[in-house]
Amino acid sequence: MLQNFTTFAVFISMQSIQVNGKSFAKYLDSSTIDNVVDGIAKQINSDYKDQKPLFIAVLNGSFMFASDLFKKLTIECEISFVKLSSYTGTSSTGSVQQLIGVGQNLEGREVIVIEDIVDTGLTLGKLRVELQNQHPKSLKLLTLLFKPGAFAETYPIDYVGLEIPNDFIVGYGLDYDGFGRNLPDIYSIVK
Ligand code: 5GP
Repeated sequence: MLQNFTTFAVFISMQSIQVNGKSFAKYLDSSTIDNVVDGIAKQINSDYKDQKPLFIAVLNGSFMFASDLFKKLTIECEISFVKLSSYTGTSSTGSVQQLIGVGQNLEGREVIVIEDIVDTGLTLGKLRVELQNQHPKSLKLLTLLFKPGAFAETYPIDYVGLEIPNDFIVGYGLDYDGFGRNLPDIYSIVK
């Protein structure tokens, strides 16, 4: 039986899409993203050559990036997940909720946090303090995307895939009110 695709929340055309009633234009295609992920993986493989780091990926948004990055790592490593939330709709709420904790002993470990995107930096800042309290041997922060125009913190981000303008984006794991995470490309909001 034929499906009625017009009932889906995400409508895809060539370069622009509607996600949950808002318009987005294509910003980064999947091959560009793949090149960026590749670059980060090569750097990590070199920096952590003789170590066994533990990656902590921040859910939900980083699931796709974490999966692609992890497949490109050739070093011995582990991954765990935390679930945080600070966004509703297209803006940060200013408070961070931890919905699932790390559940792993970090003491003496080389820890690398994997974020999909750093905007104000509030989410990563809160997590960073919590993880530091568990006395890892080292703690590095890694993000696929970084919005320098929105960043309101002073801590360093050790690995940045791409710097982007201060616009709301969806796709490649990033959502607009739950929708759009499945898109293989990244789209920017049309104002
Ligand atoms: P921050 O605390 O740095 O302001 O926000 C970090 C979190 O907000 C990210 O992990 C991500 O979940 C969400 N976020 C920030 N900017 C965007 C964006 O442009 N699009 C989407 N979909 N989520 C974003």
